[in-house]
Formats: sequence, C-alpha cells, structure tokens
Amino acid sequence: MICTRCDQPIRDDEPYETVPHYGASGAGATLHVHVRACDPVPQQTYPSRYRGGV
Ligand SMILES: [Zn+2]
Repeated sequence: MICTRCDQPIRDDEPYETVPHYGASGAGATLHVHVRACDPVPQQTYPSRYRGGV
C-alpha cells in the first residue's frame, strides 16, 4: 500500500495507521499513513487542506 502523506510505499514490516476518509459524495475510503514521522510531499494527495493560489 502507499502512504497518503509521503506517497511512498509502506512495507509489510513497517507499522502504519489507517485513516478514514470521507469524500464529498459520502463514499468512504481508508487511507494509510506511516506511523513514523515521514515527510509530507507538497502535492494534492493529502486532502487535509485546500491551498488556493500559490
Ligand atoms: Zn509516509
């Protein structure tokens, strides 16, 4: 699986957390992130906030 925060693969022997994500349509999805503090990538893959403009 892929870590939603850093967009890197989570290995089978690495701990991870599951994060419930609810889309605008109401359809739920489960995201996975590393338990360790990985570096977030400056992309739109992590839907925590919307950054309008630059
Ligand atoms: Zn990660």
